[in-house]
Amino acid sequence: MKPADRMPREIAPGVFWIGDCLLQRHKGKLYHGYNAAFLVAGEKASCLIETGHPKDFPVIERHLDALFARGIPPIEYLFVTHQETPHCGGLGRVLKTYPQAVLCGDVSDYHLAFPQYESRMRWMKEGDEIDLGGRAIQVVEPVIRDLRTTWWAFDTKERVLFPGDGFAYSHYHEDGHCGLVAEEAVSLDLPDVSSTFADLALFWTKFADMNVYCDRLDHLIAQLRVKTIAPTHGLPITDVRATVPKVQQGLKAAALTPESGTNEKMPGAAVATPAA
Ligand SMILES: [Zn+2]
Ligand SMILES: [Zn+2]
Repeated sequence: MKPADRMPREIAPGVFWIGDCLLQRHKGKLYHGYNAAFLVAGEKASCLIETGHPKDFPVIERHLDALFARGIPPIEYLFVTHQETPHCGGLGRVLKTYPQAVLCGDVSDYHLAFPQYESRMRWMKEGDEIDLGGRAIQVVEPVIRDLRTTWWAFDTKERVLFPGDGFAYSHYHEDGHCGLVAEEAVSLDLPDVSSTFADLALFWTKFADMNVYCDRLDHLIAQLRVKTIAPTHGLPITDVRATVPKVQQGLKAAALTPESGTNEKMPGAAVATPAA
C-alpha cells in the first residue's frame, strides 16, 4: 500500500493526519520525511493546520474530499506554523479552493505574495483562539522554532499539540514505518532519527543549550496536559510520557556533535557522509 493510501488517519477524535511521505536517502537506506497537514473538525467548522509540501497538494485535496464526504464541516480556517514551503507553500491554493477560509497565525509577509487575500489574513499571538464549535485551536508557545515568526497550535478538546518543526524526525520506508504513529514504529530508533533531523535541518541547535529547551518543552506539555503530539515532520506521538524523552535525547545528542553535512544526493552512490 502506498503511504498516501493509509491516510487520512484519525489520530485523536476529530483530528485527521493527511499528506504523504517525502523520499530522502540517508545512511544507504530509503529515508522518509513527512510534511504533514492535519484537519481538526469542530461541530461547525474545520481548521486545516499546515498545507503540506507542494508535491502533495493533489493527495491532500483527495484526503480532504474523502473527509468532507464523511460529513466533516467545511474548512473555515487555515493555521500555518511558519513561513516555510513545507508548512505554508499551499496557502494560496487553499485560500482559492475554500473561499470562506481565513488564514491564521503570524501572517507576516503573506500579503506580499497574495495581496488579493489580505482581508482574509488574521494575526494571532499566544493565547488567542479559533472557535470551531465544541473545541478551539489555541496559539501556544513555540518552544522549538525554525523562524522568529513561528507559533504552535493546540486543540483544547483532545489536547493535541501541533508543534510544526518540533518533534521532527524521519522514518524508514523499507521498515514499514509509513503511516504509523511513533509508538507503533517499534524498530525506529527515535533518538537517532531525531538527532539526524536536528543535524540536517535545525542548525541553531548546535549553538544552544538543548537542556533548557527540553525543560521548556516539559513545562509546556505539563501546563497544557498534552495527550497527543502531531508534528509536521515526525510520526504522531500518542504516548507522550514514553516517547517525548526519546526525542529529547536525540535533540541533546545532536547539539553536542558538529554538523555532518547534507543528505546523500545520488541513489546508490558511494557518497560518504563526513564523519562527525
Ligand atoms: Zn519544517
Ligand atoms: Zn514513509
